[in-house]
Amino acid sequence: MTTVEAPSSHLKENPWEMARSQLRQTAGQIGMEDSMLNVLLECKKCVAVSVPTRMDDGSVRVFEGFRCTHNVARGPSKGGIRYHHEVTLEETKALAMWMTWKCALMGLPFGGAKGGVVVNPKQLSVTELERMTRRYTTEIINFIGPEADIPAPDVGTSPREMAWIFDTYSMNKGYSVLGVVTGKPLEVGGSVGRVEATARGAAFCVREALRKQDLSIEDRKVAVQGFGNVGSNLALILADQGATIVALSDSGGGVHSADGIDVRAALAHKRETGSLEGLAGTETLTNEELLLVDCDVLAPCALEQVITGENADQVKATIVCEGANGPVTPEADAILDDRGILVLPDVLANAGGVVVSYFEWVQGLQEYFWKESEVNAKLNDIITRAFAETWRAHEERSLPMRQAAYALAVGRVAEATTTRGLYP
Ligand code: GLU
Repeated sequence: MTTVEAPSSHLKENPWEMARSQLRQTAGQIGMEDSMLNVLLECKKCVAVSVPTRMDDGSVRVFEGFRCTHNVARGPSKGGIRYHHEVTLEETKALAMWMTWKCALMGLPFGGAKGGVVVNPKQLSVTELERMTRRYTTEIINFIGPEADIPAPDVGTSPREMAWIFDTYSMNKGYSVLGVVTGKPLEVGGSVGRVEATARGAAFCVREALRKQDLSIEDRKVAVQGFGNVGSNLALILADQGATIVALSDSGGGVHSADGIDVRAALAHKRETGSLEGLAGTETLTNEELLLVDCDVLAPCALEQVITGENADQVKATIVCEGANGPVTPEADAILDDRGILVLPDVLANAGGVVVSYFEWVQGLQEYFWKESEVNAKLNDIITRAFAETWRAHEERSLPMRQAAYALAVGRVAEATTTRGLYP
């Protein structure tokens, strides 16, 4: 008899149950009726598709894909597409629900969605990835669209994949549909500032949080987990603002230097060698160790559930900025809160991406494109206002920032649902 080992996953807790229990807690805090809670506890629509893809050697592999819409009360659903070998339907549903709250907190006219394909994109060639992306798009083509559901990049996807989605959808329509997807490359209707937007939004949140302590980012020690789009750009932006980046990591491990890491040298080293290890002037450390280094600001910008009940009591930072979605578990949230550590929750801290996605969608619909200074100024306005609103709720209701953000966001979605009324 052969034993089948359960695949190990980065998810220690069921993310969908986690997202639902966060919502139940908020419902209790804002006095929401059960009939409303029951609606918001479910995803409006989920599709699971199989994505048969021809490999370069002529064989066919079949990938599993999902697209989930949590809610559309405030507008078309919005959210990224994740390529990762540990994607599950339940994770996709949780991420879709978080998008609903994120868009509502930002005041965007969008609901929440998320998609995913169970694949390790690093193991596919570019041509294989293109065929897989085009087939996945075709499988979900009746569900997406500029007025219905608008995908974007997430973990494992980038402007390149968005261009394929845009092209596949447009070829099927017979004309270019700029509004079907955001995070596109600039030459096919992308927005200036979209690539750096998530990191820029996070940096604005860190600035506002430090301001509350009469501090600035200058000379603050920062540790960043994850060296993808969000982590690398956040490290660059904060370093340029005068922060000392003491630790960086990617999925293979990290590097540490109490004197500060040259982020541009780290980017060049990663480009040349494929990893951060061996970067001059640094010692190596693991991803687990990175979370516990001596620093002022810790930014987990990789995957979910990295700060848990097991390590939250050892976090040294005074501010945790969630560049990733769901990196701090509810158990860890309670421990960090008890210890007086300020958590800037994902729905606020990483919302810069979807805010500039909204700008890209608007620009695409109008076929009129803005300057980068305009994009960044408007992003600053939205994030700063959302931060101030969340901070006020945090102080007035004595709630941690996440619960304050949820109270505002969930309240807005509930209000829209009531105003629209139940059909029929
Ligand atoms: N995937 C990103 C997020 O989690 C961006 C979503 C979007 O731009 O629609 O917020």
